[in-house]
Amino acid sequence: MNIIVLVKQVPDTTEVKLDPKTGSLLREGVKSVMNPDDRHAFEAAIRLKESHGGKVIALSMGPTQAVDVISEALGMGADQGILLSDRAFAGADSYATSYTLGKAIAKIGEFDLIICGRQAIDGDTAQIGPQVAEYLKIPQVTCVFAIDEVEAGAVVVRKRVEDGFERVQASLPALVTVLGEMSPRYPRVSGLIEACSERAPIEVWNGADIGIKTREVGWEGSLTHVMKTFAPKAKRQGEMLEGDTRTAARALIGKLAENLLIPHKEVSDECLG
Ligand SMILES: Cc1cc2nc3c(=O)[nH]c(=O)nc-3n(C[C@H](O)[C@H](O)[C@H](O)COP(=O)(O)OP(=O)(O)OC[C@H]3O[C@@H](n4cnc5c(N)ncnc54)[C@H](O)[C@@H]3O)c2cc1C
Repeated sequence: MNIIVLVKQVPDTTEVKLDPKTGSLLREGVKSVMNPDDRHAFEAAIRLKESHGGKVIALSMGPTQAVDVISEALGMGADQGILLSDRAFAGADSYATSYTLGKAIAKIGEFDLIICGRQAIDGDTAQIGPQVAEYLKIPQVTCVFAIDEVEAGAVVVRKRVEDGFERVQASLPALVTVLGEMSPRYPRVSGLIEACSERAPIEVWNGADIGIKTREVGWEGSLTHVMKTFAPKAKRQGEMLEGDTRTAARALIGKLAENLLIPHKEVSDECLG
């Protein structure tokens, strides 16, 4: 069972700060980590390798320092790492990112399953998994929280839906995006030391290695471009309603009625519970 896990290095924060002048992300002083969902993707992949054999390849597109998340993946039990790094990849939107990852996967060749996180905490689009599957023309299942079986050329998974879950079967090769519900293991210290050594099975590929032209990727190859980035300004000041729950609820109802958002009505204590 050969599994490719897509892994992204992200800033270790959900409070992204912007440069007020340029509108670009302020990364200085912000530590980088493996995208949280991707740790769960590795856990799912390594459990499958433990039960079915085969190998796990970690694949990331990013600057050279993104090699750290690949080392972490090797420490968790991945067998090989590939970093896609090239100045031409910079400024990619989700389409150009998926295209680059898709081309690299086509070069890797044979695989049974691609596992990736549902969503990255910085870009936040949740588009990469579905777009890579579309590019490779393979089935995809999103929002998976359990991989139940892999048998007879198919994978059976459970995916979250609004009011419960669905059990879905997809023929292999397939792609699944996972939620953060797989209880990921910590990387082994010996694995991390090995992953940081010169013998570590990590390759770095550039655009030419995966047969793409500069204008097809990065900012130039992107179908969308950010025109402006800004932090929303608070327009109105909030008002705190003081007092116990009943008093505050009564005051809130009064204010809503005053602003014609609800009809005027006397509210009994019973009604407030
Ligand atoms: C309109 C637009 C313009 C953008 N412009 C820029 C820009 O100018 N410069 C810039 O740096 N970024 C830019 N971005 C962000 C960049 O496109 C995204 O970070 C990237 O495409 C991944 O999307 P995401 O972070 O939303 O990932 P999601 O789709 O939320 O990630 C889901 C999963 O996909 C996998 N994945 C995602 N990214 C990678 C990766 N790089 N390598 C391996 N696996 C991955 C991971 O498993 C992850 O858990 C832009 C995004 C948009 C929407």
